[in-house]
Amino acid sequence: MTDMRFGFAGLGQMGGPMAANIAGGGFSLSVFDTAGTAERAPEGSRAVDSLDQLAANADTLFLSLPDGSVSLAVAQELAAMKERTTTVVIDLSTIGLQAAREAGRILKDAGIIYIDAPVSGGQAGARAGTITVMWGGPEDVLERHRDVMLSFCKNLFHVGDEAGQGQAAKLLNNFLSGTAMAATSEAVAFGLSQGLDMKKLLDVVNVSTGQNTATSDKFPNRILTGTYDAGFKTALLTKDVQLFLDNAKAAGTPVEIAETVVDVWRRCNEALPDSDFTRIYQFVTGKDAK
Ligand code: NAD
Repeated sequence: MTDMRFGFAGLGQMGGPMAANIAGGGFSLSVFDTAGTAERAPEGSRAVDSLDQLAANADTLFLSLPDGSVSLAVAQELAAMKERTTTVVIDLSTIGLQAAREAGRILKDAGIIYIDAPVSGGQAGARAGTITVMWGGPEDVLERHRDVMLSFCKNLFHVGDEAGQGQAAKLLNNFLSGTAMAATSEAVAFGLSQGLDMKKLLDVVNVSTGQNTATSDKFPNRILTGTYDAGFKTALLTKDVQLFLDNAKAAGTPVEIAETVVDVWRRCNEALPDSDFTRIYQFVTGKDAK
């Protein structure tokens, strides 16, 4: 077991279970969340009162924060600190390419290595330790962190050496995931209008060519059951598809479908603020599954 000390900032829907798996793996872990640390600190971790304390007690610091503005603010705070031992920051948040590059620059100037390492797999995957990590950063740093990474993820991909490349992989993934949710809502609405049963039509699609993560997971487990509890906020998915659109436009790649998908999610988020993203089904169809 390594003698490295780890820190974790942001114990939300994803950060909480990821930190729990790191602590559960026997790694030394200090944790902090601005919304209250003591009640969110997983078993086996040490709750601290501030980012300063975290950075003074961790060699490597994980971040699981809502968006780019928060990651950048934290990067700036870390860069300005005098009493820190942190030399590596692994940012597991989805923040877009520009914010990741900017965070990388700020921390590099302060002598800290920034790793752009967003995750996919949802809250259920974070709890089960089956999530995917898209590592944008030096490979030797990944190798030094392989054990701790595999304590909370199953699939660890080195997608590039630079900050921003992890985000590129993550954003295109969430664009596909958000598209699947919106399109599956329309497909199911049509099926129901023709007298088909939702469970049966999902069973058909799931062994046919239309199968996707909405038909195989979100619809049977979160929508058909009426629980709408995937553990991912509509606001965060809306942020992700918007970032995909912005970054694809900047790259000059096609955005015809992305424009439509972003518009649907933006309106869903306005109509259903603070909702779980599975509520897109109710927004698109005006109906409940149950
Ligand atoms: P969340 O809102 O549940 O958690 C974020 C946490 O960060 C909150 O507890 C908040 O209090 C804390 N926080 C905010 N500012 C802070 C600061 N300065 N210092 C310490 N803590 C701070 O969000 P989430 O769903 O856990 O998502 C976290 C990140 O992971 C986001 O970037 C999201 O896009 C991404 N993500 C989420 C999912 C999902 O299914 N929920 C999946 C993959 C990726």
